[in-house]
Amino acid sequence: GVSHPRTPVGYLRQDEREGRALAAIDGLPPLREVIATHELVAKKALGQNFLLDLNLTAKIARAAGDLRGCDVLEVGPGPGGLTRGLLAEGARRVLAVEKDSRCLPALAEIAAHYPGRLEVINGDALAVDVLAHLTPPIRIAANLPYNVGTELLIRWLTPAVWPPFWQSLTLMFQKEVAERIVAKPGCDHYGRLALLAQWRAEAKIVMVLPPEAFTPAPKVYSAVVHLTALPAPRYPADPAVLERVVAAGFNQRRKMLRSSLKGVHPRIEALLEEAGIAPTERAERVSLEQFCHLARLVAAG
Ligand code: SAM
Repeated sequence: GVSHPRTPVGYLRQDEREGRALAAIDGLPPLREVIATHELVAKKALGQNFLLDLNLTAKIARAAGDLRGCDVLEVGPGPGGLTRGLLAEGARRVLAVEKDSRCLPALAEIAAHYPGRLEVINGDALAVDVLAHLTPPIRIAANLPYNVGTELLIRWLTPAVWPPFWQSLTLMFQKEVAERIVAKPGCDHYGRLALLAQWRAEAKIVMVLPPEAFTPAPKVYSAVVHLTALPAPRYPADPAVLERVVAAGFNQRRKMLRSSLKGVHPRIEALLEEAGIAPTERAERVSLEQFCHLARLVAAG
């Protein structure tokens, strides 16, 4: 077997002598200490539920794929747990956009530890133009407040041109929202978000986290969703027409399509038949392929 040399008694690293522990993943202070030092009392209005376990944040970073050679956009780094995971897992560069200026000193310490690899922008992720600061290939990773996360996801899924600027999205959501993203026809969670996400991306839940994984603990379970951009849509359709058909269908999800889609096209019953959908069917049982077929027929007039 391999023998492990023992550290001689009394021979301690400086941080150990001083009673300061250092995290195994990067040699920076543990997050609990960072939060105490910078007095980062969590603010509810900013949706602050922090991840303090660096093994967990490194695991989330690994779920984002091979980061070497990639720029990673991180939204809402907070005290930097996921940021450190992304850097330790080899991201070429991380661009972190954080609204709360109280987090900047903690993030500056990480930037100093990884020279030239972390850029921090203090601002609202919904307003900052990040593209000027990123070089492809680009991946996105974030643990964001629920409402901001959903709004950004929809934005990232609906760019003017496809493929988008990003290769993958690795995002923490409330578990229920994650289920809506990956849902299949016939499930309760199936709707606009599932169709939007799955039309041009591969979406899967890669991790489920209990409330206790966060400090402070939220009320509900969370889940990490990993989305990979497809080179082209799974089925052809005009994005605006598809969105209109899907929105109308799910606006009244318990109604039959011949009535919920009445306003979409004057001959909707005939088009539904042509797309292979019974006019008495409900939106929640119609597949992505069928919705795309219907959208093409609607667009054709
Ligand atoms: N990433 C850290 C972690 O995993 O521990 C923090 C996660 S916490 C759930 C959400 C973070 O997003 C907070 O740091 C909060 O200040 C930040 N945030 C909230 N709204 C934001 C916005 N519109 N733009 C940028 N950051 C935002």
